[in-house]
Amino acid sequence: MTSAPEFDYCVVGGGLQGCLLAHALAWHRPEATVLLIERADELCGNHTWSFHETDVAEQARSWFDPLVTHRWPGYRVRFPTLSRRVEISYATITSDRLREATLSLAGGAGGSRPGRLVVRTGESCEILSPTAVRLGGTADVFCRAVLDCRGRTEAGSPGGAGYQTFIGHEYETARRWPASEPTVMDVRADQAEGFEFLYELPLGPDRVLLEYTRFHEEPACDESRAASLIAARLAEAGAGSTKLIRTEHGCLPMPYAATVSREGPSPAGGYAGGWYHAATGYSMPLAVRFAELVARGCPERVAAEIASAAAEDRLRRGFARFLNRLLFCLVRPEHRWKIFQRFYRVLPEERIARFYAHRFTFTDAARILIGWPPIGLAPIRFARSFVSLPGPLPT
Ligand SMILES: Cc1cc2nc3c(=O)[nH]c(=O)nc-3n(C[C@H](O)[C@H](O)[C@H](O)COP(=O)(O)OP(=O)(O)OC[C@H]3O[C@@H](n4cnc5c(N)ncnc54)[C@H](O)[C@@H]3O)c2cc1C
Repeated sequence: MTSAPEFDYCVVGGGLQGCLLAHALAWHRPEATVLLIERADELCGNHTWSFHETDVAEQARSWFDPLVTHRWPGYRVRFPTLSRRVEISYATITSDRLREATLSLAGGAGGSRPGRLVVRTGESCEILSPTAVRLGGTADVFCRAVLDCRGRTEAGSPGGAGYQTFIGHEYETARRWPASEPTVMDVRADQAEGFEFLYELPLGPDRVLLEYTRFHEEPACDESRAASLIAARLAEAGAGSTKLIRTEHGCLPMPYAATVSREGPSPAGGYAGGWYHAATGYSMPLAVRFAELVARGCPERVAAEIASAAAEDRLRRGFARFLNRLLFCLVRPEHRWKIFQRFYRVLPEERIARFYAHRFTFTDAARILIGWPPIGLAPIRFARSFVSLPGPLPT
């Protein structure tokens, strides 16, 4: 039985990708009706999503820019033998802002536009076909195109992945925070346990987010290690007394084996569809690109257009996964920081921008690889990673 479509689009999953898509659709196709379904009680979870401004194409600026909560003209990286200011504008969208803006599109929370967007939260959704979903196990809804934005599956990344784990604390500080720009990697700490660093976002004169980040073969994160590095930075910055405002934590697989896209009846965006940068963990560049692609097309052709864009990006996605394989299978944990230090030592800003934006060229890729340090490698483990999961690092 087929029924008349009630909506033009059903977007399943109200996280980063689903909400960006709702905004792109509202801008490019204001006449389209959209149902956005999120199984959690509210949209967007609890995140601070940062990105390089060069990640976002000019054509997406009109709908994207109002979502940005903080902007800085550049950022810093610090390594044991390198400190560099990168002159690429850096910015952040918070989940609070994205949630509020999305609800406002739907006409809720003080929104002025009586929505063509309908948001349903607290309802799990099953995707039945490219044009039908089932809500809460019973109610079927028909539309012209279903987009799967359900994020990553609990099953993880079959075939092998390293992990980027985060513990972030946002503070209000009694004294003015000494830095006015972010430090996206502060790698001055002892690296014996593997690659770890602090990420610092000054969100205001007396407000800062300090995030402990670790790249490791295991998804676990050491809370006490995070707390001690964060406390050391607060003391070094002379922040005075502090009030903890918010915490965020999470774990992002960094796959090195073949595709981790979810197989399903409808086209998938965001993490579910491989629309994220596998080597940096940043989703924003590809999530915005996906949102633009869908919103500029028509519902009936969307699956073919997404498949064709993903195919065009295939080599870059493969290269990003290959970098993860090198990092997690070839380089020993205590030497991993050198890869990142070298990246920031040798690459000029245009190449850094293209790499983060997932628009890197063949010569960018070659420049990233040529000259990798020959020490601290585990070649046998690396070779084994192509045929089986590589097991523990040899001592
Ligand atoms: C701590 C942390 C920090 C990060 N920092 C950055 C950053 O600075 N910049 C950046 O670009 N990326 C960052 N990332 C990565 C980024 O958050 C994710 O890759 C991104 O959220 C993926 O977007 P998504 O929409 O695919 O998935 P999600 O944002 O996870 O959204 C998926 C949504 O779908 C919902 N859902 C799942 N199943 C169903 C269902 N059956 N029915 C209805 N709803 C469903 C989920 O509840 C969820 O809300 C970070 C990740 C972590 C963990």
